[in-house]
Amino acid sequence: MKEHAVMIAGGGPTGMMLAGELALAGVDVAVVERRPNQELAGSRAGGLSSRTLEVLDQRGIVDRFLAEGQIAQVAGFAAMRLDISDFPTRHNYGLGLRQKHIERILAGWVSELAVPIYRSRELTCFGQDDTGVTIELSDGASMRANYLVGCDGGRSLVRKAAGIEFSRMGCDNSSILAEAETCVNKCQPSVV
Ligand SMILES: Cc1cc2nc3c(=O)[nH]c(=O)nc-3n(C[C@H](O)[C@H](O)[C@H](O)COP(=O)(O)OP(=O)(O)OC[C@H]3O[C@@H](n4cnc5c(N)ncnc54)[C@H](O)[C@@H]3O)c2cc1C
Repeated sequence: MKEHAVMIAGGGPTGMMLAGELALAGVDVAVVERRPNQELAGSRAGGLSSRTLEVLDQRGIVDRFLAEGQIAQVAGFAAMRLDISDFPTRHNYGLGLRQKHIERILAGWVSELAVPIYRSRELTCFGQDDTGVTIELSDGASMRANYLVGCDGGRSLVRKAAGIEFSRMGCDNSSILAEAETCVNKCQPSVV
């Protein structure tokens, strides 16, 4: 049975960032991720805020993101654009960069820090005892860790199994999100 001090369930942005932070602190950490790679269905997040860029700068990896994204004034409040170019920070702007690129760059950093990422495997259940956590994976393997961290998204299996409530304020509106591709055929009018 493989053992790590910390197992992170989920290799999205949160899991990857935490893995990098723990590895820098000298912790034996590993990630279990059900996707085979960082490919995403859909665009999801479109960039990084000034504060996130500052944090990535503190970790010495902001240039990797800046090299691939597009700097712009994107901060806003109540549908108003705010220009933060006179803010006292090295990153007084936002960065346009799709989530799949953000995840790929984070995964590259985590790999350089030699964090094992167990891909194409899903955490199916876990049990806690006095000395740690035993984790069961979808390929039939078991793993042992002192700590398990649930970075497995909004519908987190880890959160639910641990009995942690996802409390939220009352919902007074709902939205439908769609991604559309324009297909242009020379013989046909364009279809969206
Ligand atoms: C349709 C959609 C559109 C979005 N649009 C935007 C946007 O425009 N701007 C913006 O800022 N944000 C957007 N978001 C939000 C953004 O994508 C999330 O904030 C971000 O992905 C959260 O990262 P995370 O790592 O916490 O969780 P996730 O990205 O959900 O990552 C969780 C990871 O855990 C893995 N996982 C789940 N269960 C298990 C398990 N049992 N075992 C192993 N692995 C598991 C998943 O495969 C996934 O890789 C959008 C999200 C969605 C769904």
